[in-house]
Amino acid sequence: MLDYLKAQVDTVDTAVAAQPRAETETGVAPTARVADRPAAVEVRGLRYSYPGGFPALRGVDLALAPGEKVAVVGPNGAGKSTLLLHLNGILRGDEGEVRIAGLPVSQENLGHIRALVGLVFQNPDDQLFSPTVFEDVAFGPLYMGLEESEVRQRVDEALAAVHMEGYAARMPHRLSLGERKRVAIATVLAMEPAVLALDEPSSGLDPRSRRALIRLLRELPQAMLVATHDMHLVRDLLPRTVILDAGLVVADGPTSQMLRDTHLLEEHGLEAP
Ligand code: ADP
Repeated sequence: MLDYLKAQVDTVDTAVAAQPRAETETGVAPTARVADRPAAVEVRGLRYSYPGGFPALRGVDLALAPGEKVAVVGPNGAGKSTLLLHLNGILRGDEGEVRIAGLPVSQENLGHIRALVGLVFQNPDDQLFSPTVFEDVAFGPLYMGLEESEVRQRVDEALAAVHMEGYAARMPHRLSLGERKRVAIATVLAMEPAVLALDEPSSGLDPRSRRALIRLLRELPQAMLVATHDMHLVRDLLPRTVILDAGLVVADGPTSQMLRDTHLLEEHGLEAP
């Protein structure tokens, strides 16, 4: 099973893939060097326009402490997803800087950055593409060039963290949406990231799966930036809230305070839960 997966990993963009491998060949784990740096995420003056498009980010400043859990809310088109895509270098700003655990998001650091930031898409089907849960979760650690025994351990630990032990041999596309979302989170946890960037993690879930997801995310030690419209999730999980509107941070503070400010919420197309 691992051989099949290794072959798949080898077909991935070698420019990016070569970097974490080269690093682990030196015996230094990608996260080891940066573990004690101060801010988990630092975004300074970030501006980004899609090719030929409207400016999606117009000078965003934001910092997350290690382990801090922060909501990013705002109307559709505010730039929430665009901001998340900058955290692991899928998009690169026209101006400004993004640092993860002190490391600038740049072409030469891309391998490290991808290991440090676990980006979880809204739709788990964009993240799960293997015949089994095991292979999906093993993909990241293999991509990092880890040994087979370490890969297996990472898979076990990541599935345990999302309470999906015993699902390794299952077919991802046969699982429920809630289960697929948890496997999608496991695929990034297996890389032992310092930061999780989650796009609408609760969308489409029934109340019970939603509560299970909130409990699970609360248990995780990583810093988290969660883009969402789910103000219940914000209230129950995320002590700090950032409101993004038209590519700008228009408010940033304690969630409890923000949720009491009905005028502010209404102004930016939001509602208290
Ligand atoms: P949100 O996640 O807050 O709904 P997005 O980050 O998806 O907002 O979008 C921000 C802005 O960028 C919107 O004006 C949107 O239309 C535009 N946009 C998003 N993705 C693309 C794309 N691939 N190409 C061009 N424009 C885009």
